[in-house]
Amino acid sequence: MKKICSDCKFLAPRDVFKGFCENKNAMVIIDADAFDCKAYSAAEKCRFCKNFSAGQGGLGACAAQKGVMVYADLKACGDYAACEC
Ligand code: SF4
Ligand code: SF4
Repeated sequence: MKKICSDCKFLAPRDVFKGFCENKNAMVIIDADAFDCKAYSAAEKCRFCKNFSAGQGGLGACAAQKGVMVYADLKACGDYAACEC
């Protein structure tokens, strides 16, 4: 899976383009490729949950809440279980 700053737990968004990296204490571009960043750690979002099955348009199905569609970028709920992705 592609790694970008906006999926990292250290990113504090500032606007649609930039955010503050709380690990590096620096502004970053939120869509920046984080492949080479050793500090990258996936944020707790639906897209990184074992219960999430990706669909179309950023939506996906949640196996823990049958029949419910969730956005991949949604902040995780209490049933979150980190995937190996
Ligand atoms: S730790 Fe790395 S991947 Fe995470 S926000 Fe900072 S620069 Fe981006
Ligand atoms: S269990 Fe929670 S965090 Fe996981 S996909 Fe469903 S709503 Fe998202």
